[in-house]
Amino acid sequence: MLGLSDVASRIVQSTIRTMSVECERVGGVNLAQGVCDTPVPAVVREAAEAAIEAGFNQYTRADGIAPLREAIAKKLGQQNGISADPETEIVVTSGVTGGFDSACRALLNPGDEVLLFEPYYGYHYATLVGQYCRPVLVSLDPPDYPLAADRIVAAITPKTRGIVVNTPANPSGKVFSAAELEQIAEIARQHDLFLFTDEIYEHFVYDGQRHVSPASLPGIADRTVTISGFSKVFSITGWRVGYVHASARWIPAISYFHDLTYVCAPSALQYGAAAGLEHLPASFYADLISEYQRKREMICGALRQAGLEPSIPAGAYYVLADASVVPGADSVEKAMNLLHSTGVACVPGDAFFQGGRGDHLLRFCFAKTDSDLANACERLMKLRRASTVEQTTAQ
Ligand code: PLP
Repeated sequence: MLGLSDVASRIVQSTIRTMSVECERVGGVNLAQGVCDTPVPAVVREAAEAAIEAGFNQYTRADGIAPLREAIAKKLGQQNGISADPETEIVVTSGVTGGFDSACRALLNPGDEVLLFEPYYGYHYATLVGQYCRPVLVSLDPPDYPLAADRIVAAITPKTRGIVVNTPANPSGKVFSAAELEQIAEIARQHDLFLFTDEIYEHFVYDGQRHVSPASLPGIADRTVTISGFSKVFSITGWRVGYVHASARWIPAISYFHDLTYVCAPSALQYGAAAGLEHLPASFYADLISEYQRKREMICGALRQAGLEPSIPAGAYYVLADASVVPGADSVEKAMNLLHSTGVACVPGDAFFQGGRGDHLLRFCFAKTDSDLANACERLMKLRRASTVEQTTAQ
């Protein structure tokens, strides 16, 4: 009998998409999707255009073009404290998404358990499920989400094979401290686990905090698979360029599986990313932080005034807000009611939690142009002023 695979029959479509479709229908402001509306740095765009003109339009080596691997190795050394051999320890991937997918294929077996911190990023969860692995949640408590090492240890079974660390994290904005990462590293060593990192928001850290790459900690590099990329920092989510750094023991298999699905990251766009790494000055990254910190203040101020108490994110560009005042039995109903009453789309908390733990939460993305963000803030603030939600949704 024809039918879907076991895994496909359990697919649940992301509520992010549902919210975006409804937002478009009602002509609202979309703070649901994590798409940056900020401009692509000219040096990145121009290098990609020049590469197309110069004829770099064919498949590249499976692990990426040499100038990009070399630029990544230099960046890892200078910015992350990770020493990397560009010939044997780096694969350029189709974004962090392609990197995580390929690393899981290379290093995990069906039935393996992998620990994920909750709130989690949906793609981490779904990628593991899609590969017949079992995500096991370790919940962290708002508003600061401190690491609970005892919860990690309690979640470990003989089937546990890895831990995913997303720092700074989507959706909580948590930036794991060096001390917390040391504890995670120690547990990984003791229980012989892989550490998969997702550092896509590494440049988005606020209030003078510092991003720490887990692989830079002593004695952990061999079991750490460092994954990051350029989607967010260069505002090129549609280009699909990221990378994996890992021990030369693991890289050939990761590269093999990446090749099978994606063949390579887009050729000319790899040149664009390489130019960004080579030529953008330190001030570019500092300006990015000030700009996003300012946007964070805008959205958090508006949410607070609207009665949607935000957990102030230490990093990344999302904010989780308490939507208890918005009518609705769960976060999906609350998100829809908020969209219909204010015209602002967000993501229901259920997308990041299990067991109803996200029912009262909504996630707002603030990687928007100032005018879109100001428009959204204005609309949100009306919520409190007119206290209209109840009336509007009761109609
Ligand atoms: N990882 C996290 C935590 C994200 O939030 C996102 C995008 O929202 C991605 C990865 C996607 O990264 P990429 O575009 O490099 O695949």
